[in-house]
Amino acid sequence: MADVVKGTKVAKDKVVRFEYTLTDGKGATLDKSAPGEPLAYIHGQGQIVPGLEAKMEGKAPGDAFDAVVAPEDGYGTHDEEGVFKIPLDKLPKGTAPAVGLELASRSPDGHVMRFRITAVNADHVVADANHPLAGQTLHFAVKVVDIRDATDAELDHGHVHGEGGHHHH
Ligand code: ZN
Repeated sequence: MADVVKGTKVAKDKVVRFEYTLTDGKGATLDKSAPGEPLAYIHGQGQIVPGLEAKMEGKAPGDAFDAVVAPEDGYGTHDEEGVFKIPLDKLPKGTAPAVGLELASRSPDGHVMRFRITAVNADHVVADANHPLAGQTLHFAVKVVDIRDATDAELDHGHVHGEGGHHHH
């Protein structure tokens, strides 16, 4: 594990741990880090939404800030091409269609597409393959917890090991 160096600022290939609350701007909480369990990511690798990653640059441990991220810099705009109908008899066997249900399908070339059911009708469901937060302006309240250099193994694997990250068993 790399040392935590005092005075370290957020920069490329640093492992950053941060606490966050994500709201929709009208007061509804969409997501948040669990108390005492900050999220960890490697900066500069596109592991968090681009708009938030840009705001993290140069921040120091203990820094708290708000970031308003437009859809284009967040989870993307909502693409109507990603909305489609599925006849009920084409749903996987045993599926009880319900709004909010998440499904995945594999195309003949092996590409996995994930989608959510957004409406259930008499003979079909409406499915949406957009990210659930596509089209949303994201309001983050962030507090940087700590910053350290990524290890060679972390850079190699492209993810954080240990606290807040992946655990290899
Ligand atoms: Zn790994």
